[in-house]
Order: sequence, then structure tokens, then C-alpha cells
Amino acid sequence: MIAKKSKDIKTLFEAKGGGISRAREALSGVSALVVGIASTGVSCARFLRKCGADVVATDSRPAEEIPEVDGLKALGVKITAGGHEGVDLNPTGLVIVSPGVPYNIPLLAAARQAGAHVISDIELAYLFIDSPIVAIAGTNGKTTTTTLIGEMLKDAGIRAFVGGNIGRPVIEFVESDAGAAVVVLEISSFHLETTRTFNPHIAVLLNITEDHLDRYDSFEHYAETKFRLFENHTRSDYAIVNVNDPLIAGRIREKGIGNGSLVPFTVAGGLAEGLSLKGDAILYRRGKEMAEVYPAAGFGLRGLHNMENIMASIAAARISGVGQESILRTLKGFKGLGHRMELVREIDGVEYVDDSKATNIGAVMMALKGIAGPVILIAGGKDKGGDYRVMNELIRKKVRLLILLGEARPKIRDAFSGLTDIVMVNTLKDAVRVAGSKAKPGDTVLLSPACSSFDMFKSYKDRGEKFRQEVNSL
Ligand code: ADP
Repeated sequence: MIAKKSKDIKTLFEAKGGGISRAREALSGVSALVVGIASTGVSCARFLRKCGADVVATDSRPAEEIPEVDGLKALGVKITAGGHEGVDLNPTGLVIVSPGVPYNIPLLAAARQAGAHVISDIELAYLFIDSPIVAIAGTNGKTTTTTLIGEMLKDAGIRAFVGGNIGRPVIEFVESDAGAAVVVLEISSFHLETTRTFNPHIAVLLNITEDHLDRYDSFEHYAETKFRLFENHTRSDYAIVNVNDPLIAGRIREKGIGNGSLVPFTVAGGLAEGLSLKGDAILYRRGKEMAEVYPAAGFGLRGLHNMENIMASIAAARISGVGQESILRTLKGFKGLGHRMELVREIDGVEYVDDSKATNIGAVMMALKGIAGPVILIAGGKDKGGDYRVMNELIRKKVRLLILLGEARPKIRDAFSGLTDIVMVNTLKDAVRVAGSKAKPGDTVLLSPACSSFDMFKSYKDRGEKFRQEVNSL
């Protein structure tokens, strides 16, 4: 039964743009439920209240653990914390789900059943943004690529907002009414679960390898979610995609990848169109008439995986109107982000590398492929449900000693037993100590966990910082 008739929000999805003023018109009097009260949820709840919506926010954590609760209450947001019991779905027109909330929890299933419109903050913001959007998706490399594109635009003097999965929640950009020539968004598969009209003018897909299988019922489901990025593309849009990724290449062959113009890139071989490597340079061919060369000698980023990120960034920036000069200058100055293959220190010919952000198997495989000599690998943490055995060959070839940490220890040991020497430890301190005592000149000690950090640390950053501290105290 419908307890209170909420305003009809169907028209909300029929128009687009108009910024905060259309948001005020469209959202006033609408019943909205915000699921998840962390930074995304808080900014959405605040925004919706500002636009005159009736807002309920809910979280599975108890209110005492959510510092923002009082602030939201003061704005007139009703709170249901410590679970979703008593959340009245009937009058709810709009449900905004935070990326951290699994799409299949009973509350969301019930909301869909009740006819509510379940969307992410990205879709909500998209409805009111006038600027063209550049969206970056993929299992790995999103943050690096998003940041690079933002820097290239900045160098060219093009006013850009950079956010999404990183930095400021995008809804705050709408709220600020600041405007931008381009909006650059890092998009996770969690956002794409609930997109509907979202249509990035320039969409980048870097790669698809196993991740988050603790949240998806299958790898196919996870991959399919990523392809939703192109779902609303029209002929005037661009799909910048890594055709060296077997899954992406297969998809293009079988079904195509939306209706936009395809801009392929690959680190493998020469492409007649798009971006590929030629000797020590990236060659960007656009039609017959134009081929640009970007010599890798001047790049601040290292590794083949970063070459992919760079190719995608060049294409997105060029299409957005950035000149070649600005791109080359940015690539020279950009040395990479912390905790991603970051050299911490060299001691007696041994390099200690922090790749704490490698929270899935694909990222660790990239890391191992990029290191020439023997590796002492520190891995483990909170398991995400993938199959570690796809790394067998690399572990056997490259890893001289595997030091395991965290909850996933037994599962990883079972996957790799017999392939290399394995030691289990209880703390990161012990891991670094053992690595330090066993390392020989020419070795690389690599923290590249293949797991998330939440079993022992606050975040991947926290894990990386602690690794750095331990290495510095050797
Ligand atoms: P994301 O935002 O997608 O997690 P990051 O740029 O933060 O991506 O990098 C995450 C991890 O993936 C790091 O360990 C990094 O070294 C690795 N990585 C970065 N780019 C790529 C890529 N193109 N392919 C595979 N691994 C990558």
C-alpha cells in the first residue's frame, strides 16, 4: 500500500542538464531513500534536502558509528541506522545507493519490487550535468588514468571537474553550481549496476580481469556490468578501449561495443587506426590523414600497464581538445600515484616496492610481469573470491619467496604450494623482516597483496604506509 503519494519522478529521467536549478524543480517534494551513510550518501542526502526532497537515510552500521548522523538530522534527514528495519519503501520514489552497498541486499530488491527508481549517485548527478563527461572504467588503472586526463586538461587550460570514485563526490559538483568545460569521472562497476540514462561522451575501458567476486555471482556478470558504460552511446560519442584485453576484444568481435566511434588502443602491435606502440613511442593514428608520435623516453610513468593508461589518456585528452604539447608536458611531469608500484627504498641492491593498491589478481600479475629480476612477494589480506591459480606460471617463474599475510593465507598457500617457497607470517612487520633477511642483491621485495586490506588495515593506503615505515626501519 502506498502510504503517502510521492511526486511522479518519471520526467526526471526524460530531461537532462540544467544544473542545480533544474534539480530544485525536479526534486522538490520527491521522496528519496539514501542507502549507505558514508561520504557519497552524506553528500547525496544533503543535496536532496537542499533541493526540497523528503529524505530518509539508512545504514547497516549503528548510529554511534556514523559521525555524520547528527549533521544530517539537523538538515531534516530521517535516519534509520543499525539495519534497515522499519524503512518504509512504499512512498519512496528515488533510491540512491552508495557504491559500497551490494546491489542484491533485500532492501534494494524490495525497493525495485515496490517500483522505486534505484540509482547511484553518478546517475543522479548525471541528470543535471550540462558538460560533456569523460568516464574511466576498468578493473585496474582507473585512478591513474583519471588523474592523468585531469592533469592534461588542466595543463591545456580547460576547466575540468575530476571526481567520481575518487576525490569529491560528483553530486557536490552539481551542488556547487561551479560549471566546467569537461567532467572527468572514475566509474566503478558498482556505479554501473544502477545506471540508466548515464551516457559519457567519452568512455574509456582499460581492462576486465577478476575482481569483486565476493559481490558478483560470476565473472561474466562482473564483466557485463562494465560494458554498461557504452549502453547509451550514440554515434557522436567515443569508446576508447583496450583491444589487447581478450574479453574486450571478444566483445567487440561478437556484439560490438555500443554505437559510438571506436578508438582502440593496444600495447601489442600496430593498429591501422587508434593507438599502439611503435618502437619506443606511442603512435596515434586518426583516420588516414593524421598520425601523432609520443616518444616514451620522456614519460614519468614506468611499466607496460602504465603505457595502456597513457594511451587511453592521450586519446581522451585529444578528443577533449587538449593539444599535443600539453599532453607531452603532462606525461613528463606525472610520476604516478602513491602505493602503485612505488619504489620505497633501495638497500644493498634490493628494491622495496609498495604496490598496496594491487587489491586483485590482475594488478599483481601486471606487477610481476613488469619486474625483470627475482621477486620476494608479500601478498594476502581479505580474499575477494577470485582464483589465484591463474598466476601459477608467473609465481613459478618470478617469485623466489612468497610471504603470506592475513585471512587469505591458507587459500593462497593451497593455490601455490609446490611452485615456490612459502612462509606464513602474522604481521606486516614480520613480513618485511623475513623479506629483508632473505633478499639478495638484484631482488625486488614487492608488496602486491591481490586482496583488500580490511582484515588488518584501515585501507590500502594504511597498509602501504605501514609497509613504508617497516622498510624504512630496516
Ligand atoms: P584503480 O583505480 O582501477 O584501482 P589504480 O590506478 O589505482 O587503478 O591502480 C591499481 C593497481 O593496478 C595498482 O597496483 C597498479 O599498479 C595496477 N595497474 C594500474 N594500471 C593498470 C593497468 N592498466 N593494468 C593492470 N594493472 C594496472
